[in-house]
Amino acid sequence: MANTQIAAAREGTVTEEMKRVAERENRDPAFVREQVAEGQAVIPANRNHHALDAMIIGSEFSTKVNANIGNSETTSDLETELEKLHTAVHYGADTVMDLGTGSDLDEIREAHVEHSPVPIGTVPLYEAVKQAGGPEEITTELLLEVIEKQAEQGVDYMTIHAGILAEHLPLTDGRKTGIVSRGGSIVAKWMEENGEQNPLFQVYDEICSIFAEHDVTFSLGDSLRPGSLADACDEAQYAELDTLGELTRRAWEYDVQVMVEGPGHVPMHKVAENVERQQEVCDGAPFYVLGPLVTDIAPGYDHITSAIGAAMAAQAGAAMLCYVTPKEHLGLPDEADVRDGLAAYRIAAHSGDVANGLPGARDWDDALSEARYTFDWREQFNLALDPDRAREYHDQTLPGDNYKEARFCSMCGVEFCSMRIDQDARDADGEMNHLETQTDLEASAAAEVNLPPVGTHDTSATPDGGLDDDPGEDVSLETPSND
Ligand code: SF4
Repeated sequence: MANTQIAAAREGTVTEEMKRVAERENRDPAFVREQVAEGQAVIPANRNHHALDAMIIGSEFSTKVNANIGNSETTSDLETELEKLHTAVHYGADTVMDLGTGSDLDEIREAHVEHSPVPIGTVPLYEAVKQAGGPEEITTELLLEVIEKQAEQGVDYMTIHAGILAEHLPLTDGRKTGIVSRGGSIVAKWMEENGEQNPLFQVYDEICSIFAEHDVTFSLGDSLRPGSLADACDEAQYAELDTLGELTRRAWEYDVQVMVEGPGHVPMHKVAENVERQQEVCDGAPFYVLGPLVTDIAPGYDHITSAIGAAMAAQAGAAMLCYVTPKEHLGLPDEADVRDGLAAYRIAAHSGDVANGLPGARDWDDALSEARYTFDWREQFNLALDPDRAREYHDQTLPGDNYKEARFCSMCGVEFCSMRIDQDARDADGEMNHLETQTDLEASAAAEVNLPPVGTHDTSATPDGGLDDDPGEDVSLETPSND
């Protein structure tokens, strides 16, 4: 039998990782075990990832957020890559995908695993393309070699584009934006050039065996995700999803954990349909979605267009959200973009958890509202998702210490501050007693990610990327979401 989290769960064992997850989620360890055993949740935890602080991804648990990092052919060095890891974790990434395609991939990957408290994900296809010298030159032997090496290096989960089949390709012909997944376009080109079935599909059983040996979790790639609203929910997308459902069940036979990736670009009225269909087709395996962007018209603001879709997806049952930054479709994100992207996605994830009624999820909102209504500005900053940003904005117009106790801010001004007017009126009526009831976050039943501060991991092992200085200058990231 495989030595994986799902194998242990199926035989009734509560692992150390399950106990840790239960603590972080404020849930019963027995419930965690049950969810993992049934494939409804995954604990990506390669046995060679010793710095890992175990976490769980599943629709019954708090919604998680992934950030993508990685070098390109023109950037960067080991220290810069570790700074990127630090930045992502600092701003609250629950997992990090290393999508590097540049030089020193092994050294950087090993350093990421060595230093990262969060699960590391990769797309091994990229390294295979680089080694082969082009998409059409890949062999199944090379794919397995790269996958096994990365598994030995301690990678916790891998995107495997095994679901796009030769028979799906004609279904994309009428699309407005074709195949936009980087991995999908590589596999499609390989199939066309070689006249064979998807090589990852061909060796899927062998991949399952490698994953079972090292406890690597599948992140089944959605190669045919829509790249525009016009292509959302089309025949190609859903044909691949059906294959992903079959691949999910095959991996479970090997006692391998599975999550399934999802779109992309989807109009708001079809977001829930996507989640519900994936949950049905893939028997409840966790859904890991990229956005989705709910409109195509706002390059430069796609952290917003996608966070709207991500919040809706989280409410509908998506388990993890892959962040999108303002630079999506336009260029390499820098540190400021990572900060904005992660803030947008932490908001989406938390909003979904509040809407779904996760135990204690709203306590953070209540505590901040109480600080706001009582004009406790310092507490309001401390409780903010991004305390530095909140403090900085307040300081822009009212920098003095005396204004940190003021019963107004510069938005409405002292005369028109509605909260002050309201409180004065209630005070006159003797109705202000309710302010004495304060939310106790220490006693909250919320999961760790639904309590301040975000980015709670110990990141001392990685260099500080100058986070408090000038965001935007010192870190640039590889194209984040085009896997
Ligand atoms: S001035 Fe307006 S925005 Fe500022 S605290 Fe009062 S009500 Fe809120």
